[in-house]
Amino acid sequence: MSPLDKLITYFEKFPGTGGRQAKRFAFHVLSLKKEQVEELAALITSLPQSVSECADCHRFFSWQKNSTDGLCPLCANPSRDYSKLLVVARDTDIQAIERSGVYDGLYFVLGGTIPLLNSVEAGTRLRTGAFRALIAKRLEAGLSEVILAFAVNPDGENTGRFTEGLLREIPGTASLKISELGRGLSTGSELEYADGETIKSALRNRS
Ligand SMILES: [Zn+2]
Repeated sequence: MSPLDKLITYFEKFPGTGGRQAKRFAFHVLSLKKEQVEELAALITSLPQSVSECADCHRFFSWQKNSTDGLCPLCANPSRDYSKLLVVARDTDIQAIERSGVYDGLYFVLGGTIPLLNSVEAGTRLRTGAFRALIAKRLEAGLSEVILAFAVNPDGENTGRFTEGLLREIPGTASLKISELGRGLSTGSELEYADGETIKSALRNRS
């Protein structure tokens, strides 16, 4: 396989990218100046060293010298409300919620969703072990509410049911309030693309 074909194959695996778009990306790279291509390649190469996965919420963050215990700035921030934990599918969902500026609790990135017809097996690919461990840790720190924030579509709802089941299996969660953000979003909504106002009202009206 030629380097160009190989690059196209890589781009095809990017989320939401089809074959045609992958080709356009590859030809765009070809049209860049030599310095730009080198900068892009260097950026990609440097990512694993400059980005860490947070030990608590598991989102990726730019590694900083002063980061304590491998925690991201959100999880390490003592002014966040430790009684609330919001569970999302992907890192980009956190950015959308932070942009709305109304949520002051903490997060957990489950790492994906479970397709509706694929319930049990697909769940094992998610960060279920890390989720259990974090819930146990947060319960000791006064966790009182878990907010499930998945897309309003069959996969998102399936993931919500799965996560709720997972939560209820963890000792000490009987009195925990479990709410869903999705009820305030319109059907088919992806959190990542929702605007700040929509997320604000969804958070206020969660139940
Ligand atoms: Zn974190």
